[in-house]
Amino acid sequence: SAGLYIVATPIGNLGDITLRAVEILSRCDAVACEDTRVTGKLLKHLEIAKPLWRYDDHSDEKARERLIESMRSKAVVLVSDAGTPLVSDPGYRLVNDARREGIAVTVLPGACAAIAGLTLAGLPNDRFLFAGFLPNKAKARRETLEGLAAIDATLIFYETAPRLLASLEAIGTLWPYREIAVTRELTKLHEECRRGLSAGLIAWYETHPPKGEIVLLVSPPEEEQASADDIDRMLAEALGRT
Ligand code: SAM
Repeated sequence: SAGLYIVATPIGNLGDITLRAVEILSRCDAVACEDTRVTGKLLKHLEIAKPLWRYDDHSDEKARERLIESMRSKAVVLVSDAGTPLVSDPGYRLVNDARREGIAVTVLPGACAAIAGLTLAGLPNDRFLFAGFLPNKAKARRETLEGLAAIDATLIFYETAPRLLASLEAIGTLWPYREIAVTRELTKLHEECRRGLSAGLIAWYETHPPKGEIVLLVSPPEEEQASADDIDRMLAEALGRT
């Protein structure tokens, strides 16, 4: 039926498309996408032919209004090039406006690089904070990291291969003893997870320049609170009663 369907697509391995995604892509009236070539390839692989409408959040207001109007009578799927729409990808404005206009909105969840990286890395995951891409410029990057310093959670960043070393250096300067995980090429042939402190990872990637797509994860600040036993022991030591 008419409305907006937010559909996750694979982040590498085409086998990760869900059964629901295939069904709605086959039944919908049109697909709004970032890049018609990328989405065209996916649909061709699935042997589905649909009108493709280019959309991103920078499209002008009028284009967004027209798209939303069409959802009153048509089933419109929103996909991005890979993974979950809205997560460091277009869609936020569209979904926000569609809701305000009373359009029926449904989500078909699936692959998301942030969650795939988090689960593969094996860092603490009871609390995590997704922080998107770090800024390009060194000063802004440092300030962003400083702003996250006190967060008691594993930090998740999207990263690109050419910027990995600069990010590892910035992280290492602030937090030389936090465990880091570099997860790369998730769900693809050369999937990799490498863990260590920034110094070790920098040494590795200086001699093995990274390729492909990367999710970078940083473990939470050390638990610095001493236990009651520790305090008793420290007190006894200080009083010379060891
Ligand atoms: N919406 C997407 C999602 O749900 O994962 C993310 C889109 S964002 C523009 C692209 C970034 O996601 C890449 O730079 C990389 O950091 C990460 N990414 C996407 N696919 C990946 C993969 N197969 N392996 C590792 N990282 C990936």
